[in-house]
Amino acid sequence: MGRYNLFIAEGMCPHCHHSTVFYFQADIGRLEWTTFELGDDIMSPPATMRSPVFGPDPDALHSGRDLWAAGLERCPSCHQYVHASINMRSGKYHSCEIISSSNELYEWGLL
Ligand SMILES: [Zn+2]
Repeated sequence: MGRYNLFIAEGMCPHCHHSTVFYFQADIGRLEWTTFELGDDIMSPPATMRSPVFGPDPDALHSGRDLWAAGLERCPSCHQYVHASINMRSGKYHSCEIISSSNELYEWGLL
């Protein structure tokens, strides 16, 4: 990934069952390495760069569609990759589901 945002979620590592706070990288919103907590409005932070990059799909974002995108982070305990579905509803960071494998995940999709 190049530019991305960070999405905070408490959860348990599916590999070592360590409970921690994850900072998932995901391509949702204006990609400027912003950190979001649950409930935050993803489209609200002011632009700090001249040519913003939007993810995962500008048309879906601006039409206010609910969507999910793949999140990725390393477990701080066992250092294995942890995958998650980062869900955006009504323009806000709605929820995060940690999944055991990325096999079922594409890059993103509509909810
Ligand atoms: Zn782990």
